[in-house]
Amino acid sequence: MGDIRTNRLAPDEYERNFADSHPPLTPGQALVESNRCYFCYDAPCVTACPTSIDIPSFIRKIATGDPKGAAKDILTQNIMGSVCARVCPTEVLCEGACVRTAQEERPVKIGALQRYATDWLFDAGVQLFKAGAASGKHVAVVGGGPAGLSCAHRLAMLGHQVTVFDARPKLGGLNEYGVAAYKVAGGIAQHEVDYLLAVGNIDVRTGKVLGRDVALAQLRRDHDAVFLGIGLAGVNGLGIEDGGIAGVHDAIKYIETLRQAKDLSVLPVGRKIVVIGGGMTAIDIACQTKRLGAEDVTIVYRRGAEQMGASHKEQDWAQVNGVRIRHWSKPLRLVTANAALTGIEFEYTKADGSGRLAGTGEKFTLEADMVFKAIGLVAGGKQVLDMRDGRIDARDDGQTSLPGVWAGGDCVAGGQDLTVAAVEDGKRAAVSIDNWLRAAPAKGVAHG
Ligand SMILES: Cc1cc2nc3c(=O)[nH]c(=O)nc-3n(C[C@H](O)[C@H](O)[C@H](O)COP(=O)(O)OP(=O)(O)OC[C@H]3O[C@@H](n4cnc5c(N)ncnc54)[C@H](O)[C@@H]3O)c2cc1C
Ligand code: SF4
Repeated sequence: MGDIRTNRLAPDEYERNFADSHPPLTPGQALVESNRCYFCYDAPCVTACPTSIDIPSFIRKIATGDPKGAAKDILTQNIMGSVCARVCPTEVLCEGACVRTAQEERPVKIGALQRYATDWLFDAGVQLFKAGAASGKHVAVVGGGPAGLSCAHRLAMLGHQVTVFDARPKLGGLNEYGVAAYKVAGGIAQHEVDYLLAVGNIDVRTGKVLGRDVALAQLRRDHDAVFLGIGLAGVNGLGIEDGGIAGVHDAIKYIETLRQAKDLSVLPVGRKIVVIGGGMTAIDIACQTKRLGAEDVTIVYRRGAEQMGASHKEQDWAQVNGVRIRHWSKPLRLVTANAALTGIEFEYTKADGSGRLAGTGEKFTLEADMVFKAIGLVAGGKQVLDMRDGRIDARDDGQTSLPGVWAGGDCVAGGQDLTVAAVEDGKRAAVSIDNWLRAAPAKGVAHG
């Protein structure tokens, strides 16, 4: 067995390492920052926001001392605007498009201002939304992550009765079980769920698994429409045999345990860790194991920095955390001694003329007592719907191949795999479902 231990750090070190990574703006800082905005006409930041928040409008409200109005602008477009303010890769979305970036390489801190306004609202305990006049229609939403919850909230506002089914004990999806703990410190994910549910007309059934406790056919019979926001489940294999060797872990499962741990010191963590992957999950597992006390953490990605799913800012963040990133290498085999993991062998890779990846034949080995697989996900949905690239095939408005069934978020093909994109999918599907229900002559999805 390699050097995998609990209690690598002192209690206050765990607290420090997993505290809020970007502390909030003070009222004074928010005022100064909001006054940096040019309040552009046809603002590029709005176009770059998947949920089309009217960014200059909410920033102007902060500048004129109206944080409640600012929060309303944000949450009307994106009901999960509080978590999105913390987790969005703003550097490639709104802030990446801000005209101040081109001029001074310093965009307006849109994410931090969004957080300022939504924190203000939650602290003040103001509810801005209420359910619409009853339509008499009932929609089942499967999956209580960003896609499902955004859909449920919008449907409730449009007057429909909603039941949310989720496999897990808590709602929130990866906001609660996946995203790095220091991005969503202080229980903000559950606070946002509570705020969203307070709109009314939404029943919640947790611990209910589609395919085990509820069947899609039954949901279609009992409800006027169904929305699937079941995210992604399970990681693909490494592409090499792990043969059940202790020390090889699924990054998402480990993060899920970490996010729910009351005491971080009891989480076993290795001294030398290798993470295989190039996306946000790879960065998150690497940084969090480093913050749990691992001495040496290396991410290995099969292509170059430009092709990584993680943005440059995320890659920089990994390096700030002391994580090394090695590119152009693919795993070949796990190295063991007495059935325990001691390392992993890689082969250098290169892209051929057509961009296809090929091994160069040159090899190297990294020592490791823990290896994390963080390399892409497969859809958890069942093949009763048309699928594409292992995910549900849906139109832009979320309509699937089954009449009366919509889908959105990570379980759908061709998406961005971001919280904000899932929220937009859920919202857009709710509007499409509403149009369909209002045009539908009779109850039940069978009429489609
Ligand atoms: C480790 C990690 C870190 C990430 N960090 C970021 C980040 O910093 N910023 C960002 O924008 N995005 C990040 N993402 C991506 C983001 O979390 C997802 O894109 C987003 O959560 C997708 O929302 P969703 O509602 O589609 O799915 P999910 O959040 O996965 O929610 C799906 C829900 O469906 C439920 N469910 C699944 N199967 C069933 C079933 N059979 N029956 C009933 N319920 C079911 C699940 O319990 C879950 O609650 C990260 C993802 C991971 C894995
Ligand atoms: S692009 Fe930048 S300066 Fe212009 S409105 Fe958006 S945040 Fe303000």
